[in-house]
Amino acid sequence: MTKDLLVRGLDEEIHSKLGTVADSLGVSLNSIVKDAVDKWLEQNSQKIQKHELILYQDEKSLSNLLKSIEHVTKDENIFRACCGPKNHSGIQFLEKHGWFNGTIEPFNEFLSKPNQYTAKVLQSIGSKVGKKQLFAMAFMTGHLAENKSVNHATKFCKWYGEKNVPGITHCVAKAETFFSGGVKDMLEFFSIHDQVFIAHDDKLHKLHLSHENVHKLFMN
Ligand SMILES: [Zn+2]
Repeated sequence: MTKDLLVRGLDEEIHSKLGTVADSLGVSLNSIVKDAVDKWLEQNSQKIQKHELILYQDEKSLSNLLKSIEHVTKDENIFRACCGPKNHSGIQFLEKHGWFNGTIEPFNEFLSKPNQYTAKVLQSIGSKVGKKQLFAMAFMTGHLAENKSVNHATKFCKWYGEKNVPGITHCVAKAETFFSGGVKDMLEFFSIHDQVFIAHDDKLHKLHLSHENVHKLFMN
């Protein structure tokens, strides 16, 4: 059974523009509104699931970033969690500000069995999240890359990506660890994350990576 939806408060200009577009497309105003509602529902019914990478230039850049994140994630619907080595300045800052620390001791087990260790961390965090949206800052990948290799970090993040963990997970790591290795490893590592950001001073930059045909060099 269909229901009617009354849209109040559309000003004359918008109503007139809608009418013009509807006429030119040969569709009714009603179908435009239905289409907009369908798209909104589709977009907002999907569970957020992101695995992103944030590389930071230095301690100052990390500190600026964490202060901003700490501020913007203060929301009763967001469950804030972190994990990583306890002597990492990021973990110390977030723990001090009340973030749940899902790290399990002894942390050095992570280097020998990263996947098994992280499965336990996920269980620990999962038991606390409830119906909130998970927002996790993970300092594990960088630790793995520094102590083993970028290739180890790539394999680990591939495994993590396949777990389809609900919510938003940010792998946070020092930029030079990844920029000083081979280009092939670096590109592969970047490509397995949904988005890649670089925190530099007090700015956050987003990297756009795409495989291009050389003809692109001749185009605007
Ligand atoms: Zn990752």
